[in-house]
Amino acid sequence: MNVEQDRVVLFHYELSDEAGLALESSRDRDPLAILFGHRNVIPGLEAALEGHTSGDRFRVEVKPEDGYGLRTEGWTQRVSKKHLPNARRLVPGSRTVLRTGSGPRTVTVLKVGSSVVDVDLNHPMAGRTLCFDVEIVDVREAAPEEIAHGHVHGPGAHGG
Ligand code: ZN
Repeated sequence: MNVEQDRVVLFHYELSDEAGLALESSRDRDPLAILFGHRNVIPGLEAALEGHTSGDRFRVEVKPEDGYGLRTEGWTQRVSKKHLPNARRLVPGSRTVLRTGSGPRTVTVLKVGSSVVDVDLNHPMAGRTLCFDVEIVDVREAAPEEIAHGHVHGPGAHGG
């Protein structure tokens, strides 16, 4: 069965940056399961999955524009520590999650003061070209409920 709109695809991936530095892998856990065509992964990876079938292995290089976006220099914000649940443990370079009007956002700590923290609002992967080594494990039809929710239920699923 091929990967197409409203099907569930289970795949393993190894993610590295342009220089070949390993960033992340699904190999130590279950394959990632996504409902295809519902923007559950970055656009460049979703486009590369289309049409593939179980057992396919391929490599795709995703430019920042098709990944987590370009970096915006100077896109920082000063946040009161009381809004950050893990404020005491933050040091420059730490990542934390900020609640914003458009949902939770992963940010990087630049500077820690006594009552405020300066954060970089760019996604940690913004501005980076990402190389995915993908292995398609399985492709199946989605249940009507999964299509209605826009995400996968069951093994490998994130959220409910
Ligand atoms: Zn659901």
